[in-house]
Amino acid sequence: MDGGKKDVSGSRASVPSRKKSEDSLPKIEPIQGAVCAQMVRCGKAGCKCGRGELHGPFHYLFWREAGKLRKVYIRKKDVERVRDLCRARGRSRRMINRGIDLWRRLQLELREVESDVRTK
Ligand SMILES: [Zn+2]
Repeated sequence: MDGGKKDVSGSRASVPSRKKSEDSLPKIEPIQGAVCAQMVRCGKAGCKCGRGELHGPFHYLFWREAGKLRKVYIRKKDVERVRDLCRARGRSRRMINRGIDLWRRLQLELREVESDVRTK
């Protein structure tokens, strides 16, 4: 009764196999990120944000990747889920797996948003 993880095959491969689906996870670890709200300046002339009334708050997920701090924009409807993922650190890998899809989508959106926000 210990999870049925016994190896009964008898013949061991000399190379440790990596067939577990968990190992196919990308190296990114979104779960180590933190969700933060930020105010944003759109940069349009005459916009209220030019007078200090910034837009937002917009939510971003911050995380470290290869020692660099990175961020990705989170749409309002995704904020809850991403927060959950952050809290899920240390929980089941399956939950993280589910988050990867969302994660990929967020990374795609990052480009659009950044080019949006970075208007001079
Ligand atoms: Zn503005």
